[in-house]
Amino acid sequence: MQVLRELQPTKVFQYFEEICNIPHGSGNLDGISSYLEQFAKKRGLFYVRDHTNNIIIVKEATQGYEEVEPIILQGHMDMVAVKKADCDINLEKDSLKLKIDGDFVYAEGTSLGGDDGIAVAYILAIMDSNDISHPRIEAVITTDEEVGMEGATAIDLSMLKAKRMMNIDSEEEGILLTSCAGGAKIDCNIPIEREEKTAIFYRIKVGGLLGGHSGVEINKERGNAIKMLGRVLHRACKEMSIQIAELAGGEKDNAIPREAEAVVLVEATQENRFVELVKEIEEILKNENNTKEKNLYIISEKLGNQNKRILTEESTKRVTEFLMVLPNGIMAMSVDIAGLVETSLNVGILKLEENKMITSSAIRSSIESAKKYLMEQIKVASGLVGGSISIHGEYPGWQYDPDSKLRATMVQVYEEMFGEEPKVEAIHAGLECGIMISKIPGLDCVSFGPNIYDIHTTEERLSISSTERMWNYILEILKRK
Ligand SMILES: [Zn+2]
Repeated sequence: MQVLRELQPTKVFQYFEEICNIPHGSGNLDGISSYLEQFAKKRGLFYVRDHTNNIIIVKEATQGYEEVEPIILQGHMDMVAVKKADCDINLEKDSLKLKIDGDFVYAEGTSLGGDDGIAVAYILAIMDSNDISHPRIEAVITTDEEVGMEGATAIDLSMLKAKRMMNIDSEEEGILLTSCAGGAKIDCNIPIEREEKTAIFYRIKVGGLLGGHSGVEINKERGNAIKMLGRVLHRACKEMSIQIAELAGGEKDNAIPREAEAVVLVEATQENRFVELVKEIEEILKNENNTKEKNLYIISEKLGNQNKRILTEESTKRVTEFLMVLPNGIMAMSVDIAGLVETSLNVGILKLEENKMITSSAIRSSIESAKKYLMEQIKVASGLVGGSISIHGEYPGWQYDPDSKLRATMVQVYEEMFGEEPKVEAIHAGLECGIMISKIPGLDCVSFGPNIYDIHTTEERLSISSTERMWNYILEILKRK
């Protein structure tokens, strides 16, 4: 375990190694939080440890920097702790087995937690120094970022003086993140009435879709199996009398659903036409999704004569109409940042209970009011068919600030040090910055970090040279007055 201590910058890798010796997967943070508390105590630094294990450590300005605006350095102490099937490390108790391969540090058999241990290591190295010039530093190290940003949501920042913040939780050197999405989960409950019937039933199945993450892959315009199923059902309803017996689709509200299916009653006289109609819609949807969803299929399968408690014709019509009008996919693109999805919605889960149909969707927007507007639209759509909504897991976004001073400084320093312009980007997913801004109005943020590859997997690796470059970059930014 001595290997890392020989790497540059020495202190950063020394602290990184110490962190890797303390298990710190999300939800298992007492140990790492105590370690950080001890760190501050030993050095006489002011600190606060709260009931969710978040830690704030303050280091006053060095000589000559007393008048410079204070700055928050921020990262999260938890990691996504995963291991290979044949790895015998106990991630709840054991140290990681750090290894070096060329320019990379990785952990044998497990994830590394470079996301976001490197932020903690940078922060401790700065806090421990006596030869680095900096303004007052307020280090904010949060908990359980990886499982819903719970630490950031709970933390009290009222004691902080800084109005600017470097979030060190991005994984690509040369990219400065300047905006992220806020989000919410929204469930729609559409009441239904049932009746019992013995008749011929068919299963309709939509499948073969690619799916993906509802934030970072929504821009790929992938097919949504639930929306496609709604289209099939609606078309069938228009032409013949069908009644829904079962409905199901998707697994998670933040995953684009790859499959969905329904069981429907079909009148004996309309069986042939029903089968034909499903084929027709399959052709139409294949054509529409020609280049992006090559394996899409929509099939019908006869289940035969059965007795079931099914939706009345009126309820069938209502739920299919709702699935037709429920918005899905990209709602708006940003005009400030090319290629950025500004507002989106993913209808991720469809299920049927005895007396209601439920859809669960994930909404994202970097503009808070646009998120609220979309939530209101869905509420109105639900209301039109007699339904209601419930909202949970709401978190705020981070809107692009065209006048950010910190970004201007960070762009300038980057150009001076590395001879090229950094890319200024935004992501259509959540970052803690959105939550921090909601607690410190006007907080000027930039998120960045060294190159880390394949985060959240056992292949995760941190670039040593990039860690050194970003270290020097941070020090230079702190030095600017
Ligand atoms: Zn992270």
